[in-house]
Amino acid sequence: MDAWLDDPLTGRRVRIAEARAKRPNQFDDAQNDDGGGSGCPFCAGNESQTPASTAEALGADGRWLARVVPNRFPAYTPPDGDHEVVIESRSHRARLLDLDETELAAVVRLWAERLAYWRERCAAGGYQLLFKNEGPRAGASLEHAHSQLISRPEAPQAIRREWDHAESQLTATGGCAWCGWLERERQSGERWVAAAEGWAVVCPPAPRQPMETWILPSEHEPGLDRLATSARASAAFAAVLRRTVAAIDAETGGAAWNLIAHVAPAAGVDRAAWHCRVEILPRLNTLAGYELATGENLSTVMPEAAAARLAERF
Ligand SMILES: [Zn+2]
Ligand SMILES: [Zn+2]
Repeated sequence: MDAWLDDPLTGRRVRIAEARAKRPNQFDDAQNDDGGGSGCPFCAGNESQTPASTAEALGADGRWLARVVPNRFPAYTPPDGDHEVVIESRSHRARLLDLDETELAAVVRLWAERLAYWRERCAAGGYQLLFKNEGPRAGASLEHAHSQLISRPEAPQAIRREWDHAESQLTATGGCAWCGWLERERQSGERWVAAAEGWAVVCPPAPRQPMETWILPSEHEPGLDRLATSARASAAFAAVLRRTVAAIDAETGGAAWNLIAHVAPAAGVDRAAWHCRVEILPRLNTLAGYELATGENLSTVMPEAAAARLAERF
């Protein structure tokens, strides 16, 4: 069954989704004798092993390049929410850096399309989470490159806190807090990695992991909608994303990572207050006793040092 568990003593909230326990694991050798491929539900030719597509990006030959399907092992089912998977390639490629330019641009466009699709169907105060887990240490259970989208009728607590802060900043200063922060980062250059194609690549002021990096629109934008409507924009963002991931990959020796898109909540937030960003979080440090005890992260690299190293690789 699915359930929300709320702890009245700590304020902690936990989601139980028993269906997830049944999901296959391609990183488990016993289940993956052939190294993926033939038995992989995400490979082209095995479409009958997944639910029907809810969206597809088609190549010049009319075949799908990337497709979106409902998650067979969902963390959310209606009315609690919806959970989709974006299958990022026809072939059994594991890494984002293995996708070709056309595939990655198609993936990025599908991300933006599905975020907009769910936002339009979501009540005020709801939220869309888009994330990608690359490598088992980042939480991936299937090797075939994929990302996930969850739409919920209620925003997570962490998003609500950020949202309240953004709106109070807008009220106090009349401007977007992120635009101001980005301009200060650009001027100081201390945590600045690069600017390219209308995107800024910056290390955050308080990185949770070594080499954590954010990609933000250089000009104010609350979401990724532009990537759904312009082929040029999706190709440009895909190129910036690839260069960022490649720089992090080189600096971390191919560490697993998570990508998290931080877009404006569904209706109910002032879109002038919310500046979207895409976070890339390498998973070098595990969540250990300290992190679990305090809710804080313990990391080992200053963001200024990370930015200097990534800027050289970018
Ligand atoms: Zn596959
Ligand atoms: Zn802004």
